[in-house]
This record gives sequence, C-alpha cells and structure tokens, in this order.
Amino acid sequence: MNEHSNECIFCNIEKSRIVIENSLAILFYDSFPVTEGHSLIIPKRHIADYFSLTGDELRAVHELINLQSERLMEGDKSIKGFNIGTNAGKAAGQTVMHCHIHLIPRREGDCEDPRGGVRGVIPGKMKYSI
Ligand code: AMP
Ligand code: ZN
Repeated sequence: MNEHSNECIFCNIEKSRIVIENSLAILFYDSFPVTEGHSLIIPKRHIADYFSLTGDELRAVHELINLQSERLMEGDKSIKGFNIGTNAGKAAGQTVMHCHIHLIPRREGDCEDPRGGVRGVIPGKMKYSI
C-alpha cells in the first residue's frame, strides 16, 4: 500500500486542522463529534487499520492520545473520562479506510446511562448482568 493516497480524506487533511503531531502520527478534531473535543489520531502513513500499525507508529499514536487527553482535561474540568476506540473493517463500522483512533471525552450526564461504554457498538448489548 502507498504511503499516501490522493483519494483519502485523512491523507489530505488540511495542515491548519492539525492540532498536534509527532514524526509518525497526527491528531485533529472529528468533523462530526460525538462529544465536544472528540479527536482522531491517525498514522501519517496510509494504512487500512489498527492491525497494520508498526510498533513505532503505535508508540507515536499512544503519545498523542495521552498528550491530548491531558490537554483536554486541563482545559475543561467537566471532562471526567474518555472512550478510546477504533473500528477495524467495514463489518466493525469503519467508514474511513485510513487507520484512526477515536478519543472521545466524556462528561457526567452526557447520556442517560453510560455503563458499558464501548459495549454499545452493538445496540442492546451495552449493559450486562452477571
Ligand atoms: P469511522 O466510522 O471509525 O471510520 O470514523 C470516521 C470518522 O471520521 C467519523 O467519526 C467522522 O465523523 C469522521 N470524519 C469524516 N470525515 C471527516 C473529515 N473530513 N474530517 C474529520 N473527521 C471526519
Ligand atoms: Zn489515507
């Protein structure tokens, strides 16, 4: 796969939209945020999904996730948690075929019952009982 794809919206993200970057990854805000501050972290290389990340890219992505979570929490004291997730493959809901990790700030009361978090990928399976 090429390092850059002319057809890929994430390969062609405007420089002015980049919030933070390091040598292998960039972070920008999601255009259709689930909550305020919803950020996307992507490798600079055009790769399909999480499983194609090299060890160095994983570290680069991880660094931006941590940096941004700290910045967001410093700037907005109402943030009390995060959901971090990635959709790998169309069957899992991926719509942009350039690897990206969602960093979604969470605030108390932003939904009726947050229990289960990412389990909500399958509607109706968010809550469990032992
Ligand atoms: P996924 O469904 O995991 O592939 O997520 C794709 C994400 O990209 C969604 O959360 C969209 O809101 C977001 N998105 C789509 N187009 C853009 C864009 N041009 N800039 C920033 N985010 C985008
Ligand atoms: Zn791309």
